[in-house]
Amino acid sequence: MTIVYDRVALIGLGLIAGSMAHAMRAGGLAGHIAGYARSAETRQTARQIDLCDSVHDDIKDAVAGADLIVLAVPVGAMGVVMEQIAPHLAPGATVTDVGSVKQSVIDAVAPHVPQGVHFVPGHPLAGTEHSGPTSGFATLFANRWWLLTPLPDSDESAVARLDRLITAMGAKTDRMEPAHHDLVLAVTSHVPHLIAYTMVGVADHLGRVTDEEVIQYSAAGFRDFTRIAASDPTMWRDVFLHNKEATLDILGRFTEELFALQRAIRMGDGQQLHDYFTRTREIRRGILDAGQDTRAPDFGRTPGAKPSA
Ligand code: NAP
Repeated sequence: MTIVYDRVALIGLGLIAGSMAHAMRAGGLAGHIAGYARSAETRQTARQIDLCDSVHDDIKDAVAGADLIVLAVPVGAMGVVMEQIAPHLAPGATVTDVGSVKQSVIDAVAPHVPQGVHFVPGHPLAGTEHSGPTSGFATLFANRWWLLTPLPDSDESAVARLDRLITAMGAKTDRMEPAHHDLVLAVTSHVPHLIAYTMVGVADHLGRVTDEEVIQYSAAGFRDFTRIAASDPTMWRDVFLHNKEATLDILGRFTEELFALQRAIRMGDGQQLHDYFTRTREIRRGILDAGQDTRAPDFGRTPGAKPSA
């Protein structure tokens, strides 16, 4: 239990910031955790559940004297928030963000970072479909990757210190170029979410299958889609608006593959389907071998347990 930062300011008090607060408390990693959210309702809930050591009505009071500031708001709001806090930051402080897209956040945030303040962008690859101040939990980041995308001029000691905090919260860190991060995440997270949204939308529009039938006979595949499609609409709107190119690139490839499978089904080409599904099964096995998911048939989701996305 070593304090890594004397005062951490969490800006936005939802799933990710809340989980950080729990994890930092569990590990004794911050001397003081200050919080700010834009709505009075979220601030009140955060106070009621004692999420932070102090919750502030004014954003400048939250960041004053902080040696780490975490931007944990939707990707589209990062730049405006950075602009708001910039005049109130202590020299030598580090600003990080947890946004799911990196290049557009860097473009929006970096111009507002004052001289003498370090900016180290990051992204925890951990989440659930739940949001808001009560959705966080201390083990969200356990054994999950947390990617850092430092800028060419990022101060190495500031990066290393943030890395220490993240590791102490249970995550594994790696570093990546921002644009490459956005492409990788388009494949592993963003497009899969879009497909889940689409499939649930299709079921909703399909007149020949009633809503009751969809809900009552929901098989494992569709149930998993509905869970993903229940994710926060604001967060995911911003992800697609801000990771446009990589998402469209991967969606184009997805559409081509889908047409190929559609053709195989139409032509009765069982060999092609079997070969394809054999390759995809290997990918699943690779994920399991890497410890990034569980072999349990219900994906480890026991009743009442917190799922991970
Ligand atoms: P969340 O639970 O929905 O919380 C979002 C927080 O941001 C709330 O406190 C909200 O304030 C605030 N907020 C929303 N719009 C805002 C605006 N326009 N200006 C200022 N504040 C605003 O979200 P989250 O899941 O923690 O996500 C936060 C960030 O982490 C996002 O950038 C997301 O891309 C990233 N992320 C999410 C996941 C995931 O699976 N959820 C995983 C990794 C990274 P109010 O409550 O007052 O409205």
